Amino acid sequence: MPGFELFGEQEKEQVQDVLDSGVLMRYGFDGMRNGHWKARELETALADRMQAKYAQLLSSGTAALTVALVSAGVGAGDEVIMPTFTFVASFESILAIGAIPVLVDIDDTLTLSPSAVKKAITDRTKVIMPVHMCGSMADLGALKQICEQYDLLLLEDACQAIGGSYDGKPLGSYGDLGCFSFDYVKTITCGEGGAIITNNKEYHLHADHYSDHGHDHIGKDRGAESHPFLGYNYRISELNAAVGCAQIKRLDDFLKIQKEYYTILQDHLKQVEGITFRKVPEGGVENYAFLSFFLPNKECTKKIHEALGAAGIDGCFYWYDNNWHYYRKWEHLTHLKSLGKLPEEVHHRLLDYTKADFSESDKWMGRTISCLIKIGWTKTQVEERALKMTEVILSGLK
Ligand SMILES: *Cc1c(COP(=O)(O)O)cnc(C)c1O
Repeated sequence: MPGFELFGEQEKEQVQDVLDSGVLMRYGFDGMRNGHWKARELETALADRMQAKYAQLLSSGTAALTVALVSAGVGAGDEVIMPTFTFVASFESILAIGAIPVLVDIDDTLTLSPSAVKKAITDRTKVIMPVHMCGSMADLGALKQICEQYDLLLLEDACQAIGGSYDGKPLGSYGDLGCFSFDYVKTITCGEGGAIITNNKEYHLHADHYSDHGHDHIGKDRGAESHPFLGYNYRISELNAAVGCAQIKRLDDFLKIQKEYYTILQDHLKQVEGITFRKVPEGGVENYAFLSFFLPNKECTKKIHEALGAAGIDGCFYWYDNNWHYYRKWEHLTHLKSLGKLPEEVHHRLLDYTKADFSESDKWMGRTISCLIKIGWTKTQVEERALKMTEVILSGLK
């Protein structure tokens, strides 16, 4: 997945443009910039590639999620449905605005289960936030139908699946809003950064103002701009955006490499009896950042995951025991271990997850191994890896 693996001359040239002018900020200083507007340029390129009307860059993917929620009018006490398998950023971005994360089971897509989502809807629900984990997507058609039926927003977290598609539409562009991360380990990187895409003019305007202290960005004098509503600072720097300008041009090349290596691995593993693969919803095309598969039961999955590590096959994840990506280890959320006092709404409305039953999620995660696809590998290395993995798994299944 990581675009940093192929960091090179293109990225350096883009950053050099910014260093030469010395304008490290995305707004203002028109006369000094030598015509360089890297953040704007990346927004245009991203909107274009993702077939969306608008793109707003932010300082991180987590910031993108928060700003997306705020821009659509979500606030304190509103409930946001999110999956049990995701990165902690999902609930962080929700709690940041006093809204309530509502954890919901995943299914064999390793993303939100539409039937579980339906059961979790209350009169406070505002948003369904599917997270397209490890390069593949949620059943967006089913989720959109639920959103239409209950008048909810569909906010796609496409941070781990940039470049994938569903029903012919780039992931992130199918819902009302979509978010990407360009942190250091994502498919394309800015070092740090994130983005929102949307076709909704008002949401975009809100995101543009909110992420820059409420500045309305009218005129050429920042000091004279007005502030129609309260904002915050979630700006990206021009240096980070410059790296992204180079990386987005390379996205389709990166995806091609990922697909090639993924396919080699999958073709080998397919032949092992006992392995099945994660379900990709009909009409979905992965971005091939990971290859995720199921083994027959939790015990052998744990054992085989350890054996893969011991055999020197790096980049294989057993999310079931992971501190950051699965609800079982989120005791800081479950026990609301915050530094300062959280909003009353959160204290009153967050469910007691010490008593929650996520056995449906456990059923799938307990049997899942995901292998990171690295674009820095050579084809020979991938083929060697495929043979070695097959060998280790076969002996673990005996
Ligand atoms: C990386 C990631 C984020 C957060 O992105 P940052 O840029 O690191 O803040 C959010 N959601 C998912 C699924 C991610 O993988």
